[in-house]
Amino acid sequence: MKRLDNTRVKKTDARKHTLVHLKNAVFGEGHFTVIAGPCAVENLEQALAAAKAVEKAGAKVFRASLFKPRTSPYTFQGIGPEGIEIFKLIKKETRLLIETEILSPSHLRLLAEHVDLLRIGSRNMDNYDLLKEAGKSGKPVILKRNMSATLEEFLLAAEYLLLEGNEQVILCERGIRTFETYTRNTLDILVVPAVKELSHLPIIVDPSHSTGMSRFVSSASKAALAAGADGLIIEVHPHPEKALSDGHQSLNLHEFQTLMDELRDLARILKKKM
Ligand code: PEP
Ligand code: MN
Repeated sequence: MKRLDNTRVKKTDARKHTLVHLKNAVFGEGHFTVIAGPCAVENLEQALAAAKAVEKAGAKVFRASLFKPRTSPYTFQGIGPEGIEIFKLIKKETRLLIETEILSPSHLRLLAEHVDLLRIGSRNMDNYDLLKEAGKSGKPVILKRNMSATLEEFLLAAEYLLLEGNEQVILCERGIRTFETYTRNTLDILVVPAVKELSHLPIIVDPSHSTGMSRFVSSASKAALAAGADGLIIEVHPHPEKALSDGHQSLNLHEFQTLMDELRDLARILKKKM
């Protein structure tokens, strides 16, 4: 990986592990932190029910998109700026941090003051203008791997954020495209130890988009913890069968609680704080 020489993402003797520390959520060595919530904010009732339940189950961060990058322009595109008021209410009613996706620099300007973490999704991993803006924002950023990016390309995309002086970067493996079509994507589980070998940045796993099937989310989550991931980002919906996006891969509130209980047992064995 010659192109990683002299980069800021590269692990060095002086810089083995970066901890991204946000109030009561820590991403990095020794910790296992779960981000959970619906694919998208649909309305206040849905978002608040999901937020309260994921907090009760032990999630530290609420995920939900207001702007959706959908494959088809005819499907639900997100509720947009009106979701900001819903985020404010969730902040009042829970202790959760808020994480959401930005698709453009204008979303960044609109949302930065209302959320705790920004997410740059798979489709924008190599949107270099967006990476530079997010780097300048000084906000913690979750950078998802593009579905066709090599590990080296993924780390070099993160380099754009670090180069602007933003060190609060969390990498996210969300599955890659392979010849296999049974699952939505193929979870590249070994990218977790590979990132640990090459970089000081924390890495989390998205078991929802990597599998595309709610019944495989538990296995993928446990595999991620066992492989050394620093956390998860999981889609959870109060009524997955009615979800406006990604319902088939979303856990219901009870399934999420069960998974969190099982993960806590496993984290204890692996000596990870959860
Ligand atoms: C998401 O997390 O909401 C999402 C759209 O995922 P990805 O960018 O990995 O497809
Ligand atoms: Mn989704």
